[in-house]
Amino acid sequence: MEKNPIAITGTSKISDDKNIQEVIKDQITSGIANASDKKHTESILHLEGERAKSEKEIKRIEAVETYLGRLFDKLGLPHEGRFIEQDQIHFLSQEVFEKNFSQFTCDVGGFFRAGDRVIFMNDNNMPEGADPADKEITDLEHLTHECIHLASHAKTLANIGEDKSVSYGNYRTGYRVLGLDSNDSKFNGFNEGVVCATERLMLLSEVEDLKKRFHATEPQLEKLGYGAYVSNQVLVHTLNHKIAEFRKEKPVTSLTRIIRSQFTGEMMHLRDIEDIYGKDSLDLLAKFQSSSDSKINEVRDPLILKYFQSEDSGERIEIKEEIEKFEKTVNPTQ
Ligand SMILES: [Zn+2]
Repeated sequence: MEKNPIAITGTSKISDDKNIQEVIKDQITSGIANASDKKHTESILHLEGERAKSEKEIKRIEAVETYLGRLFDKLGLPHEGRFIEQDQIHFLSQEVFEKNFSQFTCDVGGFFRAGDRVIFMNDNNMPEGADPADKEITDLEHLTHECIHLASHAKTLANIGEDKSVSYGNYRTGYRVLGLDSNDSKFNGFNEGVVCATERLMLLSEVEDLKKRFHATEPQLEKLGYGAYVSNQVLVHTLNHKIAEFRKEKPVTSLTRIIRSQFTGEMMHLRDIEDIYGKDSLDLLAKFQSSSDSKINEVRDPLILKYFQSEDSGERIEIKEEIEKFEKTVNPTQ
């Protein structure tokens, strides 16, 4: 999960006498510097009631750091320096977490805040009825999930208006794109599914290390990655199989491309989806779990999933019309 994203906002005019790209670069650089100076100082300070990290928590951070490095190597992605600094991670008791972030419901036990690139983890993250003996592995899984968000967070984008005004405030995290004109996060649902797929593959290729470092048991290893965002994962795997078929490649090849591109920012490969499912399909994918209004998502998401699962183009047209009809009831001007 990812919350509270914007740290950099503002608009300013480009003067005609300077090269546009240079001006944009200057403005973005100073915008980011201002925002991160301010935010970074705040985030380094511990939240009231936050305790020092335990040895186990530090061990968890270092494991995820190692696993991310190996994942990037496998994907053939160059990397240098650390992915995560210990200061970027805040482990909070349920009480401190709720006091600071009472407005959030956290289904994966924490969230990544893109504005200042910090992660907040909630100690109270076990589903009801779960075996307390599984907590250490669950904690590791949740931290891995948030760290993948962090590692995929890359872009602050500039938009140039018709009057040559530049706005910076838009940004990218993996496939997720924040709209400048709304609070909607395009591709948010797809991105969460990709993060879960990444998390599972990353941890499953560390089975021996997980046994050694965390005494993970076979039943714990079998459960890895299945705890959250189930419909998102179904969506990603449905699309992946379709893409593999379309490109005549192995599913692992297309999944690797999907996973890799969340870190490189490439999105053009998603055009496959338009070729497979027809016009406007990519727009539907972008809408999955994209609205800041959960009531819209509740109705629209199952329809979008059904659309991508349908083999019948006639049925897909009907589902699309149903979605459009629903959207008109929410926003009659559309
Ligand atoms: Zn997430």
